[in-house]
Amino acid sequence: MRTPKWDYSHHVVPPLTSSATFRLSSSQRGARGFFEFACDRVDTTRQVPIYIYDRLDEPTRGMLEENLAAAEQGEIGVCFSTGMAAISASIASLTRNGDQVVAHNTLYGCTYSLMTNWLPRQGVNTRFVDMRNPKEIAKAISARTRIVYFETPVNPNLELIDIGAVREIVDRANHGRSELEKIHIVVDNTFATPFCQRPLTLGAHIVVHSLTKGIGGFGTDMGGVVIGPKSLHNVLFMYRKDFGGVLSPKAAWNVLVYGLPSLAARMANMQKSAGYIANWLDEHPKVHKVLYPGLNSFPQQELAERQMVDYRGKFAPGSMIYFTLREKGGANQAAEKFINYVADKAYCITLAVSLGQVKTLIENPYSMTHSAYLAVDANKAKKNGHGSCETNRVEPGGIRLSIGLEDRDDIIADLEAGLAHA
Ligand SMILES: *Cc1c(COP(=O)(O)O)cnc(C)c1O
Repeated sequence: MRTPKWDYSHHVVPPLTSSATFRLSSSQRGARGFFEFACDRVDTTRQVPIYIYDRLDEPTRGMLEENLAAAEQGEIGVCFSTGMAAISASIASLTRNGDQVVAHNTLYGCTYSLMTNWLPRQGVNTRFVDMRNPKEIAKAISARTRIVYFETPVNPNLELIDIGAVREIVDRANHGRSELEKIHIVVDNTFATPFCQRPLTLGAHIVVHSLTKGIGGFGTDMGGVVIGPKSLHNVLFMYRKDFGGVLSPKAAWNVLVYGLPSLAARMANMQKSAGYIANWLDEHPKVHKVLYPGLNSFPQQELAERQMVDYRGKFAPGSMIYFTLREKGGANQAAEKFINYVADKAYCITLAVSLGQVKTLIENPYSMTHSAYLAVDANKAKKNGHGSCETNRVEPGGIRLSIGLEDRDDIIADLEAGLAHA
């Protein structure tokens, strides 16, 4: 289709591209396109790529990748179909059979499942340690370690890991290692979003995100991204081409046009409500403990203030809250009663997994998002003949609350009614 109507460079909002394949004006252009794809000799960040096929590269996703890299102050970004596709790509493209990952002992449930169920089949094993004490990382690193992996804040319990302190340990371990043997620090920044924290500026080598959460922001699309140094661009592009978990341009367009440009405005408002609601919960007689990095009672307050800052350098504790109730009966009974009441009767809080959306969402990680811990531990207990294993630090009565854009008093009215029935 030849037409004079194309005028890409004058759009304010980029067109939504939707072309699985691209017209090649000659076989030479096709050959050059394939040669230049993920080629070390070609700098595609400085010239227009020859587009061939959506799975390889395409412009809407490419624009989003540039914007996401800039938001995280990284060199390049590569987008995937989901957060898990991005996480698995970041690990698989840096490891081979026999290599080892060192990870924090509490992670998003599917990441934990990936590390315990699937990576071992490829000969990649994970050691789980408590990274709140970075010395534990130094002890766990071996000659075969290639990745130090963690979330901060941790999903779901909002523990923080000191990224700078981890970097010091990894720099020492990397001393004298060849390029191929170097350990990379991979940080899942989904909970904070780049508005609250830029891990690459604090010492991480690679940042991963679920775009489904805070960056996408509206809960309409799934996606993931790996952001890091230019040197990883081509291996991630090759990996994505062959494993195939590419972000669709239609999903990329939503994140590019709605999600990312509204991130700061959404986060600033959600964070303001979260601080207010966390304080309210902290004073409620039926609430046992509240974990929110902006509370004075937060156990890692000094680290929170040092590490979680917005683009202006202001403290940015985010929009996620974790809390437990005073339990009379079993370990999860009051939490379940409370959540069930909210699920049935609340005006603005929804019982659902996911987070970082404009809608306030509540869930019970122990039996939902982090149930992979239950399954793996049940297997281990069967094998070893004893109970819960030391990696399971996801407690039964925990409640995860993702604050949205509703009026904070409406959210509190829902919580108050729920607590009255817990
Ligand atoms: C949701 C989530 C993921 C996975 O993202 P998907 O887009 O659902 O695949 C990874 N890490 C964290 C911290 C998450 O909350």
